[in-house]
Amino acid sequence: MPTDSNAPTAPEAEIDADALRRRYRAERDKRVRPDGMSQYMRLPDRFAGGDGDPYLPVRDREPVTDHVTYAFVGGGFAGLTAGARLAEAGVEDVRIIDHAGDFGGVWYWNRYPGIMCDSTSLVYMPLLDETGYIPTEKYAHGPEILEHARRIGRHYNLYDKALFHTRVTALDWDENASVWTVTTDRGDRFTAQFVGVGPGALNHPKVPRIPGIDTFAGHMFHTSRWDYAYTGGDDSSAYRSGSGDEASPVTAGAPLDKLGDKRVAVIGTGATSVQLVPSLAKDTGELFVFQRTPSGIDVRGNGPIDPEEFGPTATPGWQKRWHENFLKVSVPEPGPVGPELEDLVDDGWTEIGKRVRATLRGLPADELTPERVQHAMDDADFRKMERIRARVDAVVEDPETAAKLKPWYREFCKRPCFHDEYLQSFNRPNVHLVDTDGKGVERFTERAVVVDGTEYEVDCVIFASGFDYGSPLVDRMGYPVTGRGGLTLSEAWADGVRTLHGMFVHGFPNMFVLQFPQGAFFGPNIPQGWDEAARSVSAVVSATLTRGHAEAEVTEEAQNAWCDVILGGHPHVYDTECTPGYYNNEGEPLTHKIRLEGPYPSGPAAHFRLVEQWWKSGEFEGLAFRTRSEGTRPESAGSAGAPTGTA
Ligand code: NDP
Repeated sequence: MPTDSNAPTAPEAEIDADALRRRYRAERDKRVRPDGMSQYMRLPDRFAGGDGDPYLPVRDREPVTDHVTYAFVGGGFAGLTAGARLAEAGVEDVRIIDHAGDFGGVWYWNRYPGIMCDSTSLVYMPLLDETGYIPTEKYAHGPEILEHARRIGRHYNLYDKALFHTRVTALDWDENASVWTVTTDRGDRFTAQFVGVGPGALNHPKVPRIPGIDTFAGHMFHTSRWDYAYTGGDDSSAYRSGSGDEASPVTAGAPLDKLGDKRVAVIGTGATSVQLVPSLAKDTGELFVFQRTPSGIDVRGNGPIDPEEFGPTATPGWQKRWHENFLKVSVPEPGPVGPELEDLVDDGWTEIGKRVRATLRGLPADELTPERVQHAMDDADFRKMERIRARVDAVVEDPETAAKLKPWYREFCKRPCFHDEYLQSFNRPNVHLVDTDGKGVERFTERAVVVDGTEYEVDCVIFASGFDYGSPLVDRMGYPVTGRGGLTLSEAWADGVRTLHGMFVHGFPNMFVLQFPQGAFFGPNIPQGWDEAARSVSAVVSATLTRGHAEAEVTEEAQNAWCDVILGGHPHVYDTECTPGYYNNEGEPLTHKIRLEGPYPSGPAAHFRLVEQWWKSGEFEGLAFRTRSEGTRPESAGSAGAPTGTA
C-alpha cells in the first residue's frame, strides 16, 4: 500500500546495471528527434500578453544621452552583483538596462504559483552578508528572492541610473574615444567606458511547435508570463502550499479562485512544472498534466530559518564561507577523497556530492583507477535513481500512474528536482497525468489537446516548456555588438564562443560577458558564479581606471589558450547517452562549436580559485591595457564627469 512518506526507500536488491543501461538507452532512442532544437519556437503573439510585461505598465520617459563609467545589459543577479562590487570599489555611475520593469531577471518574469528556489536560500541569494538580510526559509519562494533583488538595487543605489522597460538595440565600440555607444529602443544614445552583458539563460520563453497550436481557441500562456487576471490569485500564490488533508492543511497565499470550474492543461514536467502543479492541483476543476519525460523528484524538506538561531552565526564574511563550503561538498573535485566534510548547507545538492565522495572513499587507494572510479560513480547513480523511482511507488497510489512517473535515465541527464507535494498531487481525483511515451503532445484542435488520438478538452493551456537556451548566444542577446575594427560578436564567434575565463573577448575592449559557456556557471548555484565574475569585473575596471589606462582587452594568445583548455575537457556521457533536453542540445551531435560552449573542465571551485588568483595578483595575465592615444569623450557625452578613480 503506498504511503505519503517522503522518505526514499533504499532498495536492498542488487542493481542489474546492464538492464538499466538498456532501458536508459531505449528511453533516449525513443526521444531523439531529427528536428532537435528547431522543434521549439519563441512565444507566439497569440499567447496571453505575448512576450510583453504582464506585471508593470511601461512609463513614458525622456531618452538619456549622457556618459557612465559602466553599463550593464541585464538586471538579474549578474548585473546586480557586478553593480554591487563596482560600487564597493568606488565606481558609482553604473547603469543597468533591462527590458523588465524592475530588477530581478528570471525572478521578475517568473511569478507562477508555487515558485521557489531549489538551492538553499543562504547560498543562492547573493550579497546577504553585505545587505544584512537573513532569508525566512531554507528554500525561499519567488517573491522573497525578487524582493532581495530590489534590496540589492536600493542598497547599492543602482536604481538611480537604471533604465527599465528598455531594450538595448546596439553596442558599438568607439575606437577614437575608447568608449562604448549604447543605443536602445527608447531613443537612448549614451556612452559607457565599460560594458557588461548578462544575457542569462532563461529569458526567452519557448514553446514546442505543436501542430494546430494556432487553431486552439481557448486561453494560452507561458509560465514565465503568468496570467493572474485569468487564473485569479496574485504573487502571494507562490506560498500556497500544503496538500489539503488534515496532516497538511493548505496554508497562506491567494487561491487561484477563477480556476474552480476550469479544465486546465499543463504542458511540460520540468522543474517549473514540478513547482507549479501542486498549486494548480488545489484550485483547478480538472488538471491534465502532459508529460513527455518525467523528472526525478527527490525530497525537499523546506522549513523556516530561525533568525534568533542563525543570526549569531552570521559573522562578517559568513556567506563567502558558506559558498566555499557548499561548492566543496556539492561538487567533488578530482583527486583523492579526504575525510567527511562539514556540510553547512545540507540540501539536495550537497547530498549528491556527499554520496559521490562516500562511494569513492569506499574504494581502496590502489583501486582508484579511472575505470574503477567510473564504475563506482555509475553504481551510485543507478542506486540513486532506483531510490527516486522507489519514492514514486511509495507516494503515488495508482500503480499505472506511478509507473509513468518514473524517470529512466541517469541522475544528471535532466535537472534534478526536489518537491514534497508534486508526486502527491497525482493522488487527487481532479489531477490526470497524460503520458505521451516520449513523443510529446500530438496536436491541438480548437478545443482540445490531442495525445495518441485521444482528445482532452480544456479551457486553458499553460506551457511549462522552458526557455531557449540552445540558439547561439549572440542571437539570444538580440542586439548587435560591434567591437574594434568593425568586428561584430557574431563574426568573432562564427565558429563558436571564444573567451578568456568565459568573460573577456578579443577585439572587444572594456567588455565583460557574464554568461555560461567557458566559465564555471554550470554548478548548482548560479548567482555564486555571477558574484565571483563580478569581483573580477570590478578588479579589472578599478585597475584600468586607477592606472590611468583607457582600455583593457584580452590578447588573442590568451583567448586561444583558454579555448584549448575548454576543448581539452572530456565530452560527458550525458552529451551522448542521455535522454535529450536542453542539457545536451536535445541530443544533437557533439560538434566543435558545442564543445567550445563547455564549462571549465576542472569544475567551478577550481575556476573560482584560478580567476581570483588571476585578479588578486594585479598582473591580469593575458589582458593588454592601453592608454588612449588621442581623442576625448564624444561631444554628446556629457554629464557624469571623470570616471571615479581615474589616476
Ligand atoms: P524545462 O526545459 O526544464 O522543461 C520543459 C518541459 O517541457 C520538459 O518536461 C519537456 O519535456 C516538456 N516538453 C517540451 N516539448 C514538449 C511537447 N511537445 N509535449 C510535451 N512536453 C513537452 O523548462 P522549465 O521551465 O521546467 O525549467 C527551465 C529552467 O528553469 C531549468 O534550467 C530549471 O533548472 C530552471 N528552474 C530553476 C528553478 C530553481 O529552483 N532554481 C525552478 C524552476 C526552474 P522533455 O523533458 O521530454 O524535453
